[in-house]
Amino acid sequence: MRIAGVEPESVVDGPGVRFAVFTQGCQLHCPGCQNPETWADDGGCEESVPRLIEQMDDAVLAGGLTLSGGEASRQPSGCAALARHAHRIGWDVWCWSGHTVEFLMRLASVEQAKGDGALAEMLSQIDVLVDGPFLLRRRTLGLAWRGSDNQRLIDMPATLRKGRAVEWRPPERASLAGSSGGDAGRTGEWWV
Ligand code: SF4
Repeated sequence: MRIAGVEPESVVDGPGVRFAVFTQGCQLHCPGCQNPETWADDGGCEESVPRLIEQMDDAVLAGGLTLSGGEASRQPSGCAALARHAHRIGWDVWCWSGHTVEFLMRLASVEQAKGDGALAEMLSQIDVLVDGPFLLRRRTLGLAWRGSDNQRLIDMPATLRKGRAVEWRPPERASLAGSSGGDAGRTGEWWV
């Protein structure tokens, strides 16, 4: 994969402590983007999926995987492989995209019809998608994990089941009491 970097124990890229992978390459060029160094396809560095998986296994404090960028959906095979591993080890998966979920789902079906199922596989491995471009005119400091108020927290399993965008809500405390997997069950208090 071409990546801009890794933060093995991030506390700002989603709930709890997370292993964050910042992919390299973004064609959206949102005015006001905080990471313009991630735009160039030939920036950053190459890192193999097995090596990233080793680093995930070494990140003892992390309880979730974050795929961010850059534009993570441009490298769907690698992202899907990391997300599959995250689920195998009991983590949840959050992903940031400058595209809306509707666009990504349409693109995934077009690519699937042409025999490329990588993006569909990646979308099926995401628990929460933070979607949409950063819009400077709608910038806000008041929404967790989002830079502008057009961006949504999308519940991907429910969205794929229903075929339309379903917004994600933090789980109720009671339903977390017996949770054993993922970050919410591990850290317990992040949704407050
Ligand atoms: S999608 Fe994200 S990384 Fe790409 S330009 Fe917009 S804010 Fe920056």
